[in-house]
Order: sequence, then structure tokens, then C-alpha cells
Amino acid sequence: MSLTIFITICYIIASVLFIIGLKRMNSPVSARKANQLSAVGMLIAIVATLLTSGMMEWQWIAFGLAVGTGLGILAAVKVTMTAMPQMVGLLNGSGGLASFIVGWSAYHYRPGASLLTTISTYLAILIGGVTFTGSFIAWAKLEEKFVTGKPIIFAGQKIVNSLLLGSLVVGGIIFCAHPADNYPLFVVIMVLSLILGVMVVIPIGGADMPVVISLLNSYSGMAGAATGFVIINSMLIVAGSLVGASGIILTRIMCKAMNRSLANVLFSGFGSVVKKQTSEAKGEAKAISVKDAYYVLEAARSVVFVPGYGMAVAQAQHAVRELGKILENNGAEVRYAIHPVAGRMPGHMNVLLAEADVPYDQLFEMDAINPIIDTIDVAVVIGANDVVNPAARSDKSSPIYGMPIINVDKAKTVFVLKRSMRSGFAGIENELFYYDNTRMLFGDAKESIQALVAEFKSV
Ligand code: NDP
Repeated sequence: MSLTIFITICYIIASVLFIIGLKRMNSPVSARKANQLSAVGMLIAIVATLLTSGMMEWQWIAFGLAVGTGLGILAAVKVTMTAMPQMVGLLNGSGGLASFIVGWSAYHYRPGASLLTTISTYLAILIGGVTFTGSFIAWAKLEEKFVTGKPIIFAGQKIVNSLLLGSLVVGGIIFCAHPADNYPLFVVIMVLSLILGVMVVIPIGGADMPVVISLLNSYSGMAGAATGFVIINSMLIVAGSLVGASGIILTRIMCKAMNRSLANVLFSGFGSVVKKQTSEAKGEAKAISVKDAYYVLEAARSVVFVPGYGMAVAQAQHAVRELGKILENNGAEVRYAIHPVAGRMPGHMNVLLAEADVPYDQLFEMDAINPIIDTIDVAVVIGANDVVNPAARSDKSSPIYGMPIINVDKAKTVFVLKRSMRSGFAGIENELFYYDNTRMLFGDAKESIQALVAEFKSV
């Protein structure tokens, strides 16, 4: 078998492993194995590339592989679950930068390239550059480092961005028509692409960043695919296309679950102004003590936990699982209801509950729990707010109107565990807190749950 055929077979095996890996990502049960399969695919692809004839300086690739593996292991151990969107942002940025650099060097080492290669080089620079600086700004906004997490909006912003994009398109056409004698224009395209990445991300609020990161993930894939055409590497084209397509699908799913269009996420400056309160406070919110909450839970036959961003902040998942087990032993049927955009990243709650070893058969998606929620004795809302806000069903003026929610208000009793009456991500009041069947258990979610556990244990 010739070396070329062997490498092609390796690439096909790697591509199949990527596809199976992606497919298996759709369940928490198989997700871990899925990741390992994809990683093996990537290793096969890298080793096969090292075997390519004419690969003179393979030591650099081996060096890069070692450094990348080391950094990857370090990040996997160190980075907390709540910081995962930033981490993904940085990874996307690295992908964008890699495509950008390959595109740049391709200009020098492939003089007289075909039109297809020239267009691919231009796209690798454009998309790679936007992805690199855009991802860096997304990371900085989420970390609140160097730049505020709030949307940065100024007069004429959209015109400036349109001019930038227009210049890049016109510049790209001129460059692709005459690449050989147009290096200064190529440099201008590189610089403008980097600036465009900054400009398109600064008007977006920090809390919308996970959607943007998912979109940039898609861009990093597209940049990778373009780079694949530049260096004529079918593996890179396949992997880049898979990342590009899955990133755009995830972006769509997230927007749909928030009932917002992608244009609204990208251009509305959501969170730049304090939104008006959409519902009049109806009466007073009724607080409940841990002791009284314990009596209600002790008598409950069915309990559903509804976690949200506050559970992640409090890191309450292990305590929640412990309370769940106690309730089960007490004869209650326990379920965990998961809203698709609860928390701040896709699958946020699934990951936290999986970390606490909550059995998968107790996890219920929103569409599975809503039809039976009126049979539930107690719904325990743990640091969730927007995803249980009834205004999404009834208040047409609400920014979240139309977003599907978990209808906890239809349960017989609702406990809301949070520290104050403050709003959640959407910045709006929640009339659920004033309903007759709602009781507020104020305090840090972990401390409140631990106090409930202590009550059960003290009898
Ligand atoms: P929210 O942001 O609506 O509310 C979280 C609540 O948690 C706050 O009201 C806060 O109240 C409470 N909280 C914070 N810290 C603690 C703590 N230590 N203990 C107890 N409570 C705490 O969260 P949801 O999960 O309900 O909704 C997610 C929102 O994020 C949605 O609007 C969604 O559209 C948006 N979003 C989600 C993304 C995703 O992929 N999941 C991506 C982008 C946006 P208090 O301060 O009073 O304690």
C-alpha cells in the first residue's frame, strides 16, 4: 500500500471517529466516550499528517503536539465548570489564529496559486482574523478583564461596521483578481479582519456571550475548512466543516430556546439599558423558613428540582443530590427538570447534575416535565429565574415573551431559593415570586439546601 493511500485511509478513519463522536454527544450517558473517540480521531489525523512525504520539519509539529497536549490537560484540570464558555472562547480564538497564520504564510510560500487557493487564503484570513480577535473580546467580556462585560455602543456603530465589511469585500475581490502584486492590500485585509472581530463583538453583552462563542466556534470551523483548501488537506476540510455546521446548529438551538433571533443577539445590545419592569408587583412575596420548608418537603410525595444559574454560582449540585436522595428515601418521587438555556451555557445544568451523580432517568427535559407539573407537590427552584418566569407566557411586552419556560407555577407548591428579589439575566421582575403557592427561601442556594438536609438528618 502506498503512503498516500495509507494517509487517506487514516483520514477517513479520523473523519468517521469525528462523526460518531459528534453523534454520541447528544446524550450525557455517551458524551464522555464521544469526546475520547474524537480525541483519538484527532491523534490519528495528526500522526497521518506527520507521515506526509515532504514533511521535512516534523519536529515542530511534534513539539506543538506536546505543548498543546500539556496545555489541554492543564486547562481541563484547572478550569472550573462556570468558566467553560471562556475556555471554549479561547480555544476558538486559537483555531482562528492558526487559520490566520496559515493563510498569511500561504501567501508567501504559494506564489502563483490558483484562483480557488487565493479565494481560500482570503477567507482563511478574513474568518480566522474575525474569529481570533472576536473570541479574545468574548473571553475578556466574560472575565471582565480589559473590557466591560456590558454592551459597548456608540453612535454610527452599525455604519462603521458596514464600512469595514464593505471594504473587506471590495478589497477581497481586488486581491483575488491580482494576488501576486498586491501584498500591501493583503496586509490591509489582515488588519481590517482583526479590527472587524473586535467591532462585531463589543456591542454584545457579556451574558449573551455563550451564543456568540457558539457562533465563533462555527467561524473557527469555517476558517479551518478554508485553510484545508489552501494547503489541500482533506482532513482539515472535513473537520472544519463539521465544526462549522455543528456550531451554527448549536447557535440556532440557543437562540430558539431564548426566543430571540440571531440578529437580536448580535445587534440589539441586550442588557445595555435597564429594561422596564414588565409586571406590576402583585401583593407581597412570602418568605419561608428552613424549618417550615422542611415540614412541607417531608410530607411531599413528588418533588421536582428546577436548577438555574444560581445553582452553578452557589455550586449547590452535590447538596441538591443529597437532598434528592433523602427525599427518595422518605418516599417521594424525585425529578430534576432542565430548561435548555438554564445557566449560562448549553448543557450547563446537565453537566453540574452529572458531576453530582444524579441518575439520568431522573433528568427531565422541559417538554417532558411540563405536561405533568400540575401533579407535582413541590417544585424547588434553585437559583433559576428567567426560565420559570410566567411573563414569558402572558406578558407581550416582556423581553422574554414567547420563550418556553418550565411551568413551575402550576405545581401545588413552589419554593424559590435565591438570595434576594433581584432579577436574573433578562433584568426583569418575576411575578412568580408573588403567587399564592410560592414561598421564597432566601439565602445562598447551597447553604439553604444544606440547612434542609440538616433538618432531615436531625430527626
Ligand atoms: P437567571 O439568570 O434568570 O437567574 C439566576 C438567579 O440566580 C438570579 O435571579 C439570582 O438571584 C440567583 N442566584 C445567583 N447566585 C445565587 C446563589 N449563590 N444562591 C442562590 N441564588 C443565586 O438564570 P436562569 O438559569 O433562570 O436563566 C438563564 C438566563 O440566561 C436566561 O435568560 C437565558 O436566556 C440566559 N442565557 C442562557 C444561556 C445558556 O446557554 N444557558 C446563554 C446565554 C444567555 P439573587 O441574586 O437574588 O440570588
